[in-house]
Amino acid sequence: MNQKLKIRLVRRLCQISVMALLIGAPLYSQNPNNWSPSLTIQGHMPPPTMSRVTGDTWSFAIGDFHLMHPVAFVEVLLSTKEFYFPLFISTLIPLGISLFFGRVFCSWLCPIGFLLELTMKVNSILRKMGLTYEVRIRDFRYAMLTLFLLCGFIFSFPVISVFDPPHILGRELIYFFTHQRLSLSGAGLLAAILFFEIFFTPRAWCRSFCPSGGGLSLLGIRRLWRIKVSPQRCIGCKRCDEACPYGLTPSNLTAHKGFDWAKCDNCGLCRDICPTGAISYSYTLNSHQTAQMR
Ligand code: SF4
Ligand code: SF4
Repeated sequence: MNQKLKIRLVRRLCQISVMALLIGAPLYSQNPNNWSPSLTIQGHMPPPTMSRVTGDTWSFAIGDFHLMHPVAFVEVLLSTKEFYFPLFISTLIPLGISLFFGRVFCSWLCPIGFLLELTMKVNSILRKMGLTYEVRIRDFRYAMLTLFLLCGFIFSFPVISVFDPPHILGRELIYFFTHQRLSLSGAGLLAAILFFEIFFTPRAWCRSFCPSGGGLSLLGIRRLWRIKVSPQRCIGCKRCDEACPYGLTPSNLTAHKGFDWAKCDNCGLCRDICPTGAISYSYTLNSHQTAQMR
């Protein structure tokens, strides 16, 4: 019996903390619409205070400390054709995390990834009732990433930041808590994604469409932190393959068969479900070592 600490619990804590931050930051800020300079001057209202914590998962700041999604940095670079050094500095930590741990942003921090993991459960209940219809979709993430970056470069306009669902969710939460409004386009796109994932293909957005997830996949393809499978412990039950939300086959790692490291987001679901504890994380320079190490 696998007695290891469940990675999913730790991940949930991270995901819930990010969601709480995305809701808490705009809640703490005062609504600029309600600011009344005349009342403030007359002393009937305190001066407006803005939270020192601002932004979302696309670009985030606590006071003077800034973090930026690596794909956001590339997009700004291409659409403005200018290298802004402070932006580069703000992307170094997320970039380092992606290079070392792979696209863990998707499974540990992304608020859309979190919501879509929850909708997977709804989809599985509806599937048992025969109310879903699964559509097989190819992986368009790299094509969308290339197309959107190219459009941004040609039209000098940041396209991905307009259509990136985690960024949309962050923006909509800010609108909602500061202006008590939602935008039809942003909220509509999020609702359409949720509807599709519940009734049709679970994790379709993350698997096939997310351009920023595609960018992180490319950055994390040579990650140093990865899952390994002990051939001595593996009993070949394939439960890990069934648990993988991206249709990957971690059981193949015991036989040096192909494994799409770019897609794996180190979510740990395969590790959690393995009945013999054969799967663990390891630090390794070479993906082929993962099956040999114990
Ligand atoms: S769940 Fe564990 S024992 Fe079963 S195939 Fe996967 S690695 Fe092997
Ligand atoms: S192989 Fe395992 S760690 Fe990687 S995405 Fe699939 S379930 Fe998550």
